[in-house]
Amino acid sequence: MKTNILGVQFDNYTVEEAINKSIESLENKKGFVIYTPNPEIVNVTKKDKDFAGILNSADIVTPDGIGIVYASRILKGNIKYRAPGFDIAKGIIEKLNERAGSVYLFGGKPTVAEAAAENLKKEYKNLVICGTQDGYFKDDTEIISSISQAEPDLLLVCLGAPKQEKWIYENKGKLNAGILIGAGGSIDVLAGQAKRAPEFFTKHGLEWLYRLIKQPSRIKRMIKLPLFLIDVILKGERNNAC
Ligand code: UDP
Repeated sequence: MKTNILGVQFDNYTVEEAINKSIESLENKKGFVIYTPNPEIVNVTKKDKDFAGILNSADIVTPDGIGIVYASRILKGNIKYRAPGFDIAKGIIEKLNERAGSVYLFGGKPTVAEAAAENLKKEYKNLVICGTQDGYFKDDTEIISSISQAEPDLLLVCLGAPKQEKWIYENKGKLNAGILIGAGGSIDVLAGQAKRAPEFFTKHGLEWLYRLIKQPSRIKRMIKLPLFLIDVILKGERNNAC
């Protein structure tokens, strides 16, 4: 059962369920897509009408933000927990390591994907890193051909939202990738250039507070969360009835 938050259909999967479903998909088909929107990304659908369709075209859509869990509570939906992109991607990588699977790292500033690859190689001895590519490009023709030739089991696309979701949607048929995930700043964390919030913050749904303390300029973005919830209260019932 999906929960409709302002037109975006969220799955009620735990991180573990999302990982298992993704790994199972490798037996059947290529191009299994995972998106993990937060309230900011759901808000994009207000101005960009096609974007909800792009998000809803994914095989798995889980919330990467406590705001979506609050929205679900307001709408009496099914979502109980966040299932962030980083945790799902890391879990898939762990399972791929067990079967000597492959991952292609795409996104971030120059050298970030390579640094992430080095760290992953140290942690996961059987994992095959079949390619790395930064996320600042004018023409992606060669990138598409490089990924398609590498045929990765997992393609991490870290271009920030909504760019990464749109890029995956437009190109997934050409990429020969098993699982594709829009994973935002995960590449910086894997590279050791950004830190995740300590467990206390993540456990209590306070990751936003940690990020605000670390980067006070995010206040402009965060001020939109209460507005998002007001929108859910005003429009949510109508949406949910669809
Ligand atoms: N990024 C990229 N290409 C772009 C824009 C962003 O590779 O054209 C990368 C950026 O370097 C960072 C990641 O996308 O590693 C996530 O960016 P951001 O922090 O804006 O997204 P968030 O994680 O907040 O969704």
